Amino acid sequence: MSSPQRPKHVVLFGRPGSGKSSIAERLSQDHGFFLFRTGELLREAVRRGDPLGLQVEATLKSGRLVSDALIEKVLEQSLSTPGDRRLLFDGFPRTIGQVPMLAKFEKSLGFRVDCYLDIAVSHAAAVTRMTGRRVCPVCGATYHLVNHPPKVAETCDVDGAKLEQRRDDSPAVIEVRQRIYAETSSPILAYYRTHLPQLFRVVDGERGFDEVYAATCVALGLPEPS
Ligand code: ADP
Repeated sequence: MSSPQRPKHVVLFGRPGSGKSSIAERLSQDHGFFLFRTGELLREAVRRGDPLGLQVEATLKSGRLVSDALIEKVLEQSLSTPGDRRLLFDGFPRTIGQVPMLAKFEKSLGFRVDCYLDIAVSHAAAVTRMTGRRVCPVCGATYHLVNHPPKVAETCDVDGAKLEQRRDDSPAVIEVRQRIYAETSSPILAYYRTHLPQLFRVVDGERGFDEVYAATCVALGLPEPS
């Protein structure tokens, strides 16, 4: 059987709590993907207190989505020609309006996404995971108290910072984010499934981290972790 072609640029989909961010981080460490994460870029803007941060702070806290117009600005400011880098999009496109935006940037910056991969997880499993999620306030690395704990409790493996719970990981906000994801992701996934079926893949995300990561590597045509 021939192995699938190794994709160079990837879009990762997955509801909040699917484990998508942890998978993205590991892909970056093992395979040199450059992570393009709109959520992290927005949170950084809030931390810096710059004009974009002030505009999006309340939206982020509420769990609602930032407008497509602001996301386009974030892309204009932060996305540059990949050159030799492999890009991994985590959190974009997030609405059907952002689908043509990606196509526009592919054209203007001269790259093509080779794989759209959905990490599929049920609503119930995602909610359970989100309540245990912890993040590093310095580098943005994501952990989970049970599924993906740091080596030292409550401490980032990368830089030793004390881990925090994201403010939008409170139970009420988690429900808002799940509802919005369910509404906005279906048309996007349907679009890629229909228009680019040869580039669209699904991985069952309702397993332990190592299994999901291994399945993701297989789906992307990358060597499995040893
Ligand atoms: P999660 O996938 O767990 O919701 P993210 O870090 O991807 O976490 O996103 C955090 C928040 O940032 C979202 O709830 C939303 O408010 C905002 N956000 C991130 N990416 C986008 C996007 N592409 N379009 C609109 N809002 C976004």
